[in-house]
Amino acid sequence: QKAEWAKLVNEPTISKDGQHVELAANIGTPDDVKGVLENGGEGVGLYRTEFLYMGRDQLPTEEEQYDAYKTVLERMGDKPVVVRTLDIGGDKELPYLHLPKEMNPFLGFRAIRLCLEEQDIFRTQLRALLRASSYGNLKIMFPMIATLSEFREAKAILLEEKEKLVASGVQVSDSIEIGIMVEIPSTAVMASQFAKEVDFFSIGTNDLIQYTMAADRMNERVSYLYQPYSPAILRLVSMVIEAAHKEGKWAGMCGEMAGDPIAIPLLLGLGLDEFSMSATSILPARTQIKGLSKEQAQSIKETVLSMDTTEEVIAFVKETFQIN
Ligand code: PEP
Ligand code: MG
Repeated sequence: QKAEWAKLVNEPTISKDGQHVELAANIGTPDDVKGVLENGGEGVGLYRTEFLYMGRDQLPTEEEQYDAYKTVLERMGDKPVVVRTLDIGGDKELPYLHLPKEMNPFLGFRAIRLCLEEQDIFRTQLRALLRASSYGNLKIMFPMIATLSEFREAKAILLEEKEKLVASGVQVSDSIEIGIMVEIPSTAVMASQFAKEVDFFSIGTNDLIQYTMAADRMNERVSYLYQPYSPAILRLVSMVIEAAHKEGKWAGMCGEMAGDPIAIPLLLGLGLDEFSMSATSILPARTQIKGLSKEQAQSIKETVLSMDTTEEVIAFVKETFQIN
């Protein structure tokens, strides 16, 4: 099986009926790029920049960040690299910021909420990204967006930093797409409004599932509620993809679900454009998609979205696509 996968390293991802989707990888450090290329990644769909900030006792400087972003962009060449701005908080703490303890860290002061308030941290990261942008195909993505106002504010800050850099003679790419993670239900519900203003969506199912089901993603006791194939989740995912396409934008997914063999036929049928997963899942996913007809996957969409339970969805998908 490995030999069969290896043949697909430099191949595009095309379904049996000739439809292309993009298979990208989630990374945490510049060293991860090697694995992405070896496993045939068509891009980086999620660069989690938190790791630059963690395991140390002070913030990374603009130069340190610039070096990391430039390295990733250069190593990926023309391939797209979606960099997510700092998503700290929840399960990821930064002791040196001395943030007060919270009752509900997953619902608290984190990610874009922190960045919009602690703007020095945010602006430093944005400058590093903008300066690195001319070395590759950069896309910037904001995490944990819950309202349009947050997106507008974050984008305005980004454009402000860009103008300042350009005014001082720094070369900045003119084609940086600006998108958001869709990982909070309010944003999925409002996707048609967001779609008019963002360049792309990346659906973060790891969090979208926990917030939709009100089930902590780290809590074993409630893990039975953590259901990627819940019709509730699938309807949200479908709404987001449809909203994007209506405005001519693309929709990806960077939660664990994107690399799951049961989810893949469903997501193909819902029209997902980009699947971002751990590098080692890319070749198995490409192999699976080569054997699937997108038209067939689309034809079961309404049936699945009108099902009552997760169990029903799983049984139906396994039978239809012959997955054990
Ligand atoms: C997600 O929430 O689905 C996601 C990809 O981000 P993280 O797992 O880093 O929260
Ligand atoms: Mg998340």
